[in-house]
Amino acid sequence: MVITIDGAAGVGKTTTAKELAKELGYQYFDTGAMYRAVTFYFLAEGVDLQKSSNISESLKAMNLRIDFLSGNEMILFLDEKDISLKIRNQKVTSYVSEVSALKEVREMMVSIQRTTTEKGNFIVEGRDIGSVVFPDAKYKFYLTADYDIRAKRRLADFEKINEAKNINKIKEDLIVRDKYDSNRKLSPLKKPDGAIIIDTSECSIKEQVNQILKHIER
Ligand code: C5P
Repeated sequence: MVITIDGAAGVGKTTTAKELAKELGYQYFDTGAMYRAVTFYFLAEGVDLQKSSNISESLKAMNLRIDFLSGNEMILFLDEKDISLKIRNQKVTSYVSEVSALKEVREMMVSIQRTTTEKGNFIVEGRDIGSVVFPDAKYKFYLTADYDIRAKRRLADFEKINEAKNINKIKEDLIVRDKYDSNRKLSPLKKPDGAIIIDTSECSIKEQVNQILKHIER
């Protein structure tokens, strides 16, 4: 079974999805990390994003592997090297929306997401999970939060990987990325039909998780 959690950057998807996975004994699955891994690979290979044939060829040659270590940990390997931390850097973050808007990339990622979750129970987080990847999921959630709160959370994420950032710049970047993700032609970020909205601005992680658990128990 799949439970979907969608929403923009910094709304609390990851912490909520990981906690929920722990509570329910499900596997946590971060689809944003997959788009980041492809972006990391394209940047390393110098792939020309304007050339469709280039993109298809590069995707075919890409040696990406996902490993689920424990219930709430997912590791990404490129050519058998762990890239899970590197994909969080500023460069990848600033290119990922452009890469994730590419048809070839989305088709491949969605196909992997569907086959990977065929067996077992997963909490899958992303932007199009309840709308496109698993539109028939029984439980779908859409998380939202104020921009200032989201920027503060992202600042803490960057501090974890020792990247110093200015909070106003982070907020600006979030606004730009949301605009791009919400207005792209393919699978734009939006509330999936039938998804329950959870506003996490004023919530602790525990409260967010409890709200979701209550809906599931009901
Ligand atoms: O969740 P995260 O911020 O790591 O996602 C990085 C980017 O990956 C998003 O800004 C979006 O462009 C893309 N993404 C997507 N579809 C998903 C998950 C992420 O297009 N299901």
